[in-house]
Amino acid sequence: MSITGIKGMNDILPGDIETWQFLEEQARKIFKAYGFSEIRVPVVEKTELFCRSIGETTDIVEKEMYTFEDKSGNSLTLRPEGTAPVMRSFIQNKLYSQDPVAKLFYTGPMFRYERPQKGRYRQFHQIGVEAIGVEDPKIDAQVLAMLAHYFEAVGIEDVALQINSLGCPECRPGYRNALLDYLKSKLDALCADCRRRYESNPLRVLDCKVPACKEATGQAPSVLQHLCGSCDDQFSAVQRHLKDLQIDFSVNDRMVRGLDYYTKTAFEMVTGSLGAQNAVAAGGRYDGLIRDLGGPALPGIGFAMGVERLVLMLGEKRVQPPRPELFLAAMGEEAAQLAFVLMSRLQRQGMQAEMDYEGKSLKSQLRRAGKFNARQVLILGENELARQVAVLRDMDGGTQEELPLADIELILLQRRDGA
Ligand code: ATP
Ligand code: MG
Repeated sequence: MSITGIKGMNDILPGDIETWQFLEEQARKIFKAYGFSEIRVPVVEKTELFCRSIGETTDIVEKEMYTFEDKSGNSLTLRPEGTAPVMRSFIQNKLYSQDPVAKLFYTGPMFRYERPQKGRYRQFHQIGVEAIGVEDPKIDAQVLAMLAHYFEAVGIEDVALQINSLGCPECRPGYRNALLDYLKSKLDALCADCRRRYESNPLRVLDCKVPACKEATGQAPSVLQHLCGSCDDQFSAVQRHLKDLQIDFSVNDRMVRGLDYYTKTAFEMVTGSLGAQNAVAAGGRYDGLIRDLGGPALPGIGFAMGVERLVLMLGEKRVQPPRPELFLAAMGEEAAQLAFVLMSRLQRQGMQAEMDYEGKSLKSQLRRAGKFNARQVLILGENELARQVAVLRDMDGGTQEELPLADIELILLQRRDGA
């Protein structure tokens, strides 16, 4: 039996890759305009980094990490997300010593041992950004505006931005207590995971996807009623800036996010079209994270988009693979040799050209040109060769013409420049 890949880890094949490349190119282009630079960090880190940042009592750390021992007995983990590694690198490389403000983005695979289903995989890919060192809520609005701009640019319309504030170490304990009070009487209705979360991480109960838990928490107190003055001001300012920038959003005071490092602004880009996997992008502020990881006390805010979910959402708008500009069909040894050299010269000049290397019948070569969906076919038969011409057939228009063989390369390239 042949060896298969790992469940929940997908190959990205030609035909799909074009859409991925498009999504990545758009991200690079747009993030650059907002002053973000790319950073590349390893896919493996010390396990401790994720336990300390994401939080010991989150789903990710409790049950989703790919953790293993290397041959020296170090505990390593395949990164489940990008923020912690980027912050680790920011601190380790002292990027703050040049400028405390850093705007970074990353792309790449993340790993979580989840139950694979549509839009949820064990290896998945994120495009993420981090804006470090700015306290002012203008940066929150900038990051959100950039996220909205990205969705607009790639043509994904069926999404809505939801924002919330999760408070800070000042006001979160008060909210936590209010929530515990409320949940006490609902414990029997909660799923086993949420009964555990009640003890360890009660805010996470609000994020549970089990319908009974959703119902039981329907009337739970709102985090927004428990914000301290400074968090409240921050949240109002973010909303004011978003209005100034004409970014549509709604406030969802039930959205808590699954990672412990978030403070104040939290947000998700949600869609109605992916079932339970309704978040296409998500993020928030993490003002204590850099200090908790041993760096300076600098605030930060960022988001990550799930590329698989973006691809699913693009649906009909997926990018088609490029069509060869020219297919060379040759009959006979001498013509085949000539076509081979001509094809190579055209390729060197950037033209996507194809031929049938095996020299089958003209009919089968033309069938192959059709399969490639080539725009034009250049036919070089013995007959044409004798008269020093080639026949150029336009596959879309169905027209064809005879061209002098001596100038064929020049003509093809000139027409291409003119097109
Ligand atoms: P969800 O609520 O769907 O589990 P999450 O809150 O765990 O998402 P984050 O950790 O914030 O997600 O990651 C940001 C984005 O990464 C998500 O909005 C989603 O698009 C994508 N993502 C997260 N986990 C997966 C996964 N297992 N497979 C595919 N994409 C994922
Ligand atoms: Mg998750």
